[in-house]
Amino acid sequence: MTLAPALFVSHGAPTLVLRDIPARRFLATLAATLPRPRAILSVTAHWATEAPVLGSAEHPETIYDFGGFPDELYTMTYPAPGAPDVAARGLALLREAGIAARTDAARGLDHGTWIPARLLYPDADIPLAQLSVQPAQDPAHHHRVGAALRPLREAGVLIVASGTFTHNLRAAFQVMRSGHDDVELPFTAPFVDWIDAAVTAGATEDLLAYRTRAPHARDNHPTDEHFLPFFVALGAGSAGRRGRRIHHSTDYGMAMDAYAFD
Ligand code: ZN
Repeated sequence: MTLAPALFVSHGAPTLVLRDIPARRFLATLAATLPRPRAILSVTAHWATEAPVLGSAEHPETIYDFGGFPDELYTMTYPAPGAPDVAARGLALLREAGIAARTDAARGLDHGTWIPARLLYPDADIPLAQLSVQPAQDPAHHHRVGAALRPLREAGVLIVASGTFTHNLRAAFQVMRSGHDDVELPFTAPFVDWIDAAVTAGATEDLLAYRTRAPHARDNHPTDEHFLPFFVALGAGSAGRRGRRIHHSTDYGMAMDAYAFD
């Protein structure tokens, strides 16, 4: 069996699912390059908790956790079955690694999960569980969470960590209002290039210290919840293998890059 990489993808603005842009086209063709998963574990920037929580609903509902976007978005659903078995196995793996965690059978799918999932697997026929991020915790914590969950990959679970590669919302809204969607912010390219060089070099320590070492880290991530899923995917990559960039584009000034960790 070919082992699917752990993925980091950028979901950007919720309208990603409606607009014909490079990041959307990338996600819509990505699944064809992967072995078909038995289940998906989505690590979403839009679910913030103190300790890791795994969504274990049998039939998770679609959540519309955004405001001020086109009506069409609020009629979309992602009726994939839940994956309570994946949530339970994930919980056991986290606890074995000494990480306090729990499951939540009520939580639905937020747009950090359903927007990429809808583009990746539009038939919504692959069972899916969600995992939260911990904004009060550092990248090293998220890297440990990813490493603990690595065995899920061997069980055919596709780990899709969903955030946005750069996420300065204030700047993004300014670009949105300007009527242009392909603007590159001056502080973004140095950050994007630095992270990519560190991934390519396997410089995990630098990556985990990105908030002090990467150029313009705070301009690109005033808060870092949208980058924390990246570290879960990084941690879920196999030891001795380096990550690879599988997509680069910009939308509303946000870098929409995606990475695969084999
Ligand atoms: Zn988001």
